[in-house]
Amino acid sequence: MKQSLRKECFCAHCRSPRKLRYHRRLQGSHFLQIFVMTFVLSAALYPWLDFKGVVSFFLIWPAFDLTYKTMYRKDLKCPYCGFDPTWYKKDVTVARRQVEDFLKQNPDSPVLQRARKLEDFQNSQTNLN
Ligand SMILES: [Zn+2]
Repeated sequence: MKQSLRKECFCAHCRSPRKLRYHRRLQGSHFLQIFVMTFVLSAALYPWLDFKGVVSFFLIWPAFDLTYKTMYRKDLKCPYCGFDPTWYKKDVTVARRQVEDFLKQNPDSPVLQRARKLEDFQNSQTNLN
């Protein structure tokens, strides 16, 4: 049975519920995968490199880590409003521009639909008074 790695949270910008598939750092099972890959690569390269193929661990590990962090960052971006917390930490204006661009490109986004409903409700309340 595969263990679910999903983490539930809310978007910091639009407060939509989210599920993250990836963790911030590599987990124990990932290191096991890296060791298996190192073993297989070392076994394949044994006729030419003998046991020096074990050094491939130090090539596989950063490549695996970089790939995993790229997937994590891609997963972190909110699919409803386009908010990226990583960019928000680095540069707020860039993060704000990304959200604005995302909402311009996706006019049917649930965030905009919610804002329109709220605006309609507020207009109906002011018309009643
Ligand atoms: Zn969001």
